[in-house]
Amino acid sequence: MLDSLIENNGPTARLVYHLRRRVAAAGVDLLYPPRCACCDSELMGNHDELLLCTDCCRSLGPETRPCCPFCGAAGAVDGVPPERCWLCRKTRLKFDKVVPLGDYHVAELHDVVLRMKRPVHESLSAAMGRLLARRRRQQLAELRPDLIVPVPMYWTRRLDRGTNSPEILARELGRTLGIAVRRRVLWRCRNTLPQAGLPPGQRFQNVRGAFRVRSGRRLRGARVLLVDDILTTGATCSEAAKVLKKAGAAMVAVAVVARAQGPNTT
Ligand SMILES: [Zn+2]
Ligand SMILES: [Zn+2]
Repeated sequence: MLDSLIENNGPTARLVYHLRRRVAAAGVDLLYPPRCACCDSELMGNHDELLLCTDCCRSLGPETRPCCPFCGAAGAVDGVPPERCWLCRKTRLKFDKVVPLGDYHVAELHDVVLRMKRPVHESLSAAMGRLLARRRRQQLAELRPDLIVPVPMYWTRRLDRGTNSPEILARELGRTLGIAVRRRVLWRCRNTLPQAGLPPGQRFQNVRGAFRVRSGRRLRGARVLLVDDILTTGATCSEAAKVLKKAGAAMVAVAVVARAQGPNTT
């Protein structure tokens, strides 16, 4: 209705409409100044849609980080691409690549990942999705994903937690990169023990058979970007990638906020 009104009244009406919107937005900003989704400080001046302050962006880790070209583990590069690091060479992971935002051992990022598991911090999850898309835009674009799939949670855990950070991350990645998000392609058909409480050796066994692809969904030849908040041994994402590939996916890459590594990392 509004669109047709603007179309019928030409460029002047369009200009007035956009000016009104700008003024209204400025008014809202004045009444409710935008705040950083991480530290809640007031964002001054020309903030952008990221809604994170400069200090928080800096504290979450450097913009670029040298890492294994396959599993994204930092400081583990001992060869040139496409060589794998020692961490992923000993495990045959089923996905094709990991694109992490940063390292779980960075205290600020560690804290953010823990907060993202609570409903009160959903705006933080969204901001991290936008930061991941912005900082890793080139790597993600080079993967040429056709669709984005969040790693699903079992329904009881989702109810218990009251939020689903992989879904929020996927939504923001999709919106920023212009890629379709498919929440229902993959589902978790059985509950599993929390991976964080298990030794690395048991994590692959724990998630075996935990995912299924919904019937009727066409994945043949698709390039899939799986999204999760954290990747440690890679067991969960590897199991999900195995199922997606079995259903016809040509490529499965993983985008995560934090890459943890090592036998004692949870
Ligand atoms: Zn901040
Ligand atoms: Zn590696």
